[in-house]
Amino acid sequence: MRGRLVAGNWKMHGSLEANHRLIEGLKAGLRPGLQAAVAVCVPFPYLQQVGRALAGSPIALGAQTVSEHDAGAYTGEVSAAMLADLGCRYVAVGHSERRSLYAESDQVVAAKFLAAMRAGLTPILCVGETLSERERGETEAIVSRQLEAVMEAAGAAAMAGCVLAYEPVWAIGTGKTATPEQAQDVHAFVRTRVARRDAGVAGNLTILYGGSVKASNAADLFAMPDIDGGLIGGASLVAADFLAICHAAARA
Ligand code: PEP
Repeated sequence: MRGRLVAGNWKMHGSLEANHRLIEGLKAGLRPGLQAAVAVCVPFPYLQQVGRALAGSPIALGAQTVSEHDAGAYTGEVSAAMLADLGCRYVAVGHSERRSLYAESDQVVAAKFLAAMRAGLTPILCVGETLSERERGETEAIVSRQLEAVMEAAGAAAMAGCVLAYEPVWAIGTGKTATPEQAQDVHAFVRTRVARRDAGVAGNLTILYGGSVKASNAADLFAMPDIDGGLIGGASLVAADFLAICHAAARA
């Protein structure tokens, strides 16, 4: 169901002490009755700590990736059932850092999406183009290819159970944000692309923008008609910044 959502992606940051301070800061500062869902996607070793700290709060727990396999001899991997066991609601799949640094193909991303769904998790499916792809005018082709791989494997109806995140690779962690208009164009395209397969599902999709979202630019991005919230990296590590972004999403 379409709704406002702000999800933090802590990436490979944190410690027991820093996580404690951050979560206590978020719980203390989040406005009661906020009209936006909030989640934090934390490193695997801290899922239990953060899950316990979030108990009773409206902030949901998420992970940053998941194995495409359900169980077995896959040393170092973490299954979707394990994430569900630890109280995760969300898991990011296809983050550009996973695609580029760990060579996750569209097919692997689709398999991870399916594994997350089998365990009852909500995948946050990330799509987005690199700077050179944008400069060559390939944004729509790249985003379509990434989306189609998942819709082909899971079926368009399955998209109803996920959240999409448009994250232009050139904007992630670079301080360069897509303009609200640039982001809106791609969000509208993504919705249209899903609508080609299932208009009802497309209308109900929550589509997040990610890429150097800050307290200072969040409101303008979230005011766009097809931007339903954000996937936030760096700014999710500072309680005051992440809170300001959550509050901007609720106001938009
Ligand atoms: C991300 O990690 O998904 C992200 C968008 O990072 P940042 O906000 O730091 O650009």
